[in-house]
Amino acid sequence: MRIVTSVTAMQRLAGRWQSRKRRVGFVPTLGFLHEGHLSLVRRAREIVGPRGCVVVSIYVNPTQFGPKEDLSRYPRDFARDKKLCRGAGVDVIFAPDDKGMYPQNDAGTYSTYVVEEALSRGMEGASRPTHFRGVTTIVAKLFNIVRPEVAVFGAKDFQQAAVVQRMTRDLNYPLKIVVAPIHREPDGLAMSSRNKYLSPAERKQATALWLAIRHARKTVRKSPKPIAARKLKAELTKLISARPDARVDYIEFFDAQTLRPADKVAAGTQMALAVFMGKTRLIDNARL
Ligand code: AMP
Repeated sequence: MRIVTSVTAMQRLAGRWQSRKRRVGFVPTLGFLHEGHLSLVRRAREIVGPRGCVVVSIYVNPTQFGPKEDLSRYPRDFARDKKLCRGAGVDVIFAPDDKGMYPQNDAGTYSTYVVEEALSRGMEGASRPTHFRGVTTIVAKLFNIVRPEVAVFGAKDFQQAAVVQRMTRDLNYPLKIVVAPIHREPDGLAMSSRNKYLSPAERKQATALWLAIRHARKTVRKSPKPIAARKLKAELTKLISARPDARVDYIEFFDAQTLRPADKVAAGTQMALAVFMGKTRLIDNARL
């Protein structure tokens, strides 16, 4: 397994792969890897085959964090990430630094961004106003550097996958986006690097998101006709708020393709939610 930290070295390597017609699968991450990330790596390997190249990028991208968010304390453990990647059969870890990814001009600023203007407005985009600009910018840059044939994203970040898919189409990237299912802990909590922040008491309460999803699913499947979104939101908010450290940021029901909010909820409607558990913000989603 190779570790590449320089942007130009990664570009050279990608160029060589392309001229040799090697298939390249790519999994972008912020690092502090868990089984959810590794399931994306395995998916990438399945697609490009044993002779293909699987690249994992590990980069805590500053532009996708808001000024009051957890950029400086985001968990990092490169030694452990390396071990996990090696075990999962990764060919290359691309771990650039801020200077390489955000070259600065004489005034010390970086000034070019990629912005998706429709799918990124609601939900995560409403709660975290500059988040998706950071995501689309870094993903576009990584695509330009790694030049993969396929990139694998997790359904855990459902809206992110939709925004990246739209950006890929709109900017004519010649690559396929694959969205892999959410990997969960045995009690249903979606795996996330941020779960590390949770105290033991918060960790127990964190099953509230999965509980809310299951409750919503059961409710719509039992109901003979669609349910008013407002009513179901209120019910789920009450359910989640029964946990003392939980505070709902949003619960949204929407169409899985357009992300347009739904007034009525039925089987097949997509649901997403964000909940603060103490100071930690957790997200989850599912098709009902
Ligand atoms: P992150 O490092 O959190 O930015 O995640 C990197 C990629 O892994 C994104 O495409 C995420 O959606 C995906 N991912 C994170 N957690 C999970 C999970 N529990 N199951 C599946 N994919 C995940």
